[in-house]
Amino acid sequence: MTAQPLIRVWQGDITTLGVDAIVNAANRTLLGGGGVDGAIHRAAGPGLLEECRKLGGCPTGQARITGGYNLPARHVIHTVGPVWQGGNASEDDLLASAYRSSLAIAHQHGLITIAFPAISTGIYGFPPDRAASIAVQTIRSHGAGLTVTLVAFDAQTASVLSGALG
Ligand code: ADP
Repeated sequence: MTAQPLIRVWQGDITTLGVDAIVNAANRTLLGGGGVDGAIHRAAGPGLLEECRKLGGCPTGQARITGGYNLPARHVIHTVGPVWQGGNASEDDLLASAYRSSLAIAHQHGLITIAFPAISTGIYGFPPDRAASIAVQTIRSHGAGLTVTLVAFDAQTASVLSGALG
């Protein structure tokens, strides 16, 4: 039997975590943006943007890996979550796919410790409680052997994520 993932909730700035990979809630250009994406690029330094330019973007629901540059994390896994459009535009599936693709990349690269922000729940407007249960379900089904930190930037997100963990 494969080991269930260890999942924990932590409140703070994802750019400070010295894990194997932090996940970036990027946009399809992978050229940086606001929110956690901006914070990651600022903390990583210009080398990250230079590597991202070579990737040529990323479709919604998929993921790409780069180095961590000046971050304490060794890698950044960039994934693109869906923009919330009311719930009838495959948002749930696309969000699950963003988590699944990120976990698949972690497995492919032999990474064990991974930290996720609350993908799509900021500028992209996905309802936080719905996003939290998708995150937890997908990590439980596809994160065998990993140690996953769900990062909340604020106390409300921390409580929503803890609730989804049960
Ligand atoms: P999206 O465009 O996918 O909605 P955002 O970056 O706007 O992405 O927001 C995703 C989540 O990341 C939100 O809960 C936001 O509060 C959080 N966030 C923003 N900055 C950071 C950070 N430095 N560390 C961790 N989480 C962050």
